[in-house]
Amino acid sequence: MGASVGFGRYDIAVIGAGIVGLAVARALQKLRPHDRIGVFDKESTVAAHQTGHNSGVIHAGIYYKPGSLKARLCVQGVRQMKAFCAEHGIPVDECGKVIVATHESEVPRLHLLLQRGNENGVPGLRLITSEELREIEPHASGIQAIHSPGTAIVNFAAVAAALANDLRAAGVELQLGAGLIGGKEEGGEVVLETTRGTSRAKLVVTCAGLYADRVARLLGEQPPVQIVPFRGEYYQLRPGQNLVRTLIYPVPDPRFPFLGVHFTKRISGEYEAGPNAVLAFAREGYRLTQVHIGELAEALRFSGFRRLLIRHWRTALGELYRSLSKRAFCRALQKLVPEIQPEDLLPGGSGVRAQAVAKDGSLVDDFLLLLRPRIVHVLNAPSPAATASLAIGEYIAAQIAAQQGWPSSTLTTAG
Ligand SMILES: Cc1cc2nc3c(=O)[nH]c(=O)nc-3n(C[C@H](O)[C@H](O)[C@H](O)COP(=O)(O)OP(=O)(O)OC[C@H]3O[C@@H](n4cnc5c(N)ncnc54)[C@H](O)[C@@H]3O)c2cc1C
Repeated sequence: MGASVGFGRYDIAVIGAGIVGLAVARALQKLRPHDRIGVFDKESTVAAHQTGHNSGVIHAGIYYKPGSLKARLCVQGVRQMKAFCAEHGIPVDECGKVIVATHESEVPRLHLLLQRGNENGVPGLRLITSEELREIEPHASGIQAIHSPGTAIVNFAAVAAALANDLRAAGVELQLGAGLIGGKEEGGEVVLETTRGTSRAKLVVTCAGLYADRVARLLGEQPPVQIVPFRGEYYQLRPGQNLVRTLIYPVPDPRFPFLGVHFTKRISGEYEAGPNAVLAFAREGYRLTQVHIGELAEALRFSGFRRLLIRHWRTALGELYRSLSKRAFCRALQKLVPEIQPEDLLPGGSGVRAQAVAKDGSLVDDFLLLLRPRIVHVLNAPSPAATASLAIGEYIAAQIAAQQGWPSSTLTTAG
């Protein structure tokens, strides 16, 4: 931690240097090129949390409720993300993906997904037979599937690094290792207390991921949701395996916003299986053994978390069991690729999803923003927020521009 020197006054401060915070800073910098803008993060690097620990899939926009922010910003974000990567020489593999129904009972949901994807304007979606599935994925087993040719893979940490470089080049100050620990509105400004001193800003956008609710509370907000961390654990597929070529997903359980354990190809050429969705005992609990008593107690005090547990305890225990038992994890994968064996699965990494939960115990499905006159809080930005990040940034900048009466013609998002 550096000396407590302070940073002076900013026109705009963004809290959080994950892909969403960086994209918000980018859109605001385009809109207000003469403003002094700072991005603050408690970590010493950008993309230290969700942005650097995910599946790396540029989602096409199939799953999301038509008209929702997720649906609109994902479909728009895909185009922007692919264009950004092309401009910056960041490798993208348009490998496509299949969503596979393995049982008759899943077929109606598969058809609904196709309908959703088409309504959302996802290009090229096609229902395919089991024979066509085998042409794309010779070892996958299913009775019907959706083929999404536009789904792609990328390294979102590389995207974040490129965004950070662009921001620095445009004069935006990245204040890393400066965690927000307090703040308040005072004299028409927001006072920001950080671990490296105090700063002031006329406008603040918080994009704090796993600490989104906590950061909102630090700035005097009473957020209507609390973040519940769900760890996603991966296995790496044995190098040289030939069971998976691209991305193979199951038909998801409609009760949860998670996509179910699946197979993914990484842009590095490796293959992974996962992620599951295990309740984590710490917000940044990347391993099962990581327990943060204070955060656990805070979660248990929240009525929404208790209701969630009461409603879904069976699923939560099942996920925990699958986290502990490689065989159980492998059984879930065998539904998609019957030949996969526990020996094919090597230890992999993990990520923790920041999922907002409402007081009634429901998982907040859509992206959630809270727009106040001086502070905008991003309270829920789970998957596909990495895919949609550039569109989310422009959307937030357009909302702020409308509120502040700034012209916003440089943005592609229309409010
Ligand atoms: C396992 C997993 C798989 C996923 N797969 C995909 C995928 O394939 N495709 C996709 O589109 N999305 C995927 N996602 C979702 C995606 O990673 C997130 O939606 C996205 O990264 C959110 O970005 P963010 O900037 O909001 O959050 P983060 O990347 O978590 O950034 C938040 C930042 O805020 C900082 N911060 C927190 N508190 C403070 C504080 N007090 N002061 C200063 N800074 C603070 C943190 O250090 C962090 O850097 C996945 C997520 C996970 C976990």
